[in-house]
Amino acid sequence: MSKKVKVAFFDFTSCEGCQIEVTNLGEPVFMGLLDHIEVVEFREAMSEQTKEQIDVSFIEGSFSREADRKRLEDIRKRSSVVIAYGSCATIGGINALKNHQNDYKQAVYGKDAEMPHLDSAKAKPISEAIKVDYNITGCPIDKNEFARIVSDLLHGKTPFVPNYPVCVDCKMRETVCRYHLGDHCLGVTARAGCGAPCPADGVPCEACRGFVDHPNQEALTKVLIEKGGLSPDRAKTKSRMWTSNYRSEQ
Ligand code: SF4
Ligand code: SF4
Ligand code: SF4
Repeated sequence: MSKKVKVAFFDFTSCEGCQIEVTNLGEPVFMGLLDHIEVVEFREAMSEQTKEQIDVSFIEGSFSREADRKRLEDIRKRSSVVIAYGSCATIGGINALKNHQNDYKQAVYGKDAEMPHLDSAKAKPISEAIKVDYNITGCPIDKNEFARIVSDLLHGKTPFVPNYPVCVDCKMRETVCRYHLGDHCLGVTARAGCGAPCPADGVPCEACRGFVDHPNQEALTKVLIEKGGLSPDRAKTKSRMWTSNYRSEQ
């Protein structure tokens, strides 16, 4: 029998929802993966930890504290492949909202705001601290996309990461466009791969997977104003929920 691939899961600034999504893979899929991988660290599911070499490390959460850099560098040194998973890790995600506010700590923690363990900097993607080989984006990740990417790696294939907009997924499932219904939508520049569940459920895409490479943000703002009915200010800040690290029009 061939040697199993050693896999570890690590978390940084996050809600751990992406780890939960991995555990949500369910018994048949996860047990199937366990025929080929050995999970050596995964805080959400086991207490064991490792200091050994790792074949594939999955990192959840943003890089938001300089104090985390050493741990990230150690993970990189011990890992053949590093995969950032979840939008916190791939683009800074929802944590990056704080990058636009100065008084959030005071508002949340009051007189305890200056306690040392609350010290943090801007929320950035993991790639700001170490080299990342692949990104699996989404908030949370899509568990089926995760399983596909792990399967690709196990078969020695380069995982496919979509670089086209959610509109493509949306058209494939024949959903009526939100703009035709007098609504707005960020799917025109959002990174696809999710299957466009939000427009299919009657709500706009909020770009939780971030943008495609080189998005035309000027055109996005224009369409949000002219077709989506948003005010110019709202159109510029609309996508900040997940993409505030990348929105060029602030
Ligand atoms: S990407 Fe979303 S679900 Fe995943 S850890 Fe971050 S906030 Fe939680
Ligand atoms: S609803 Fe959104 S994702 Fe779908 S086609 Fe329209 S703009 Fe694109
Ligand atoms: S449709 Fe947009 S908001 Fe919904 S899951 Fe896909 S990328 Fe995220």
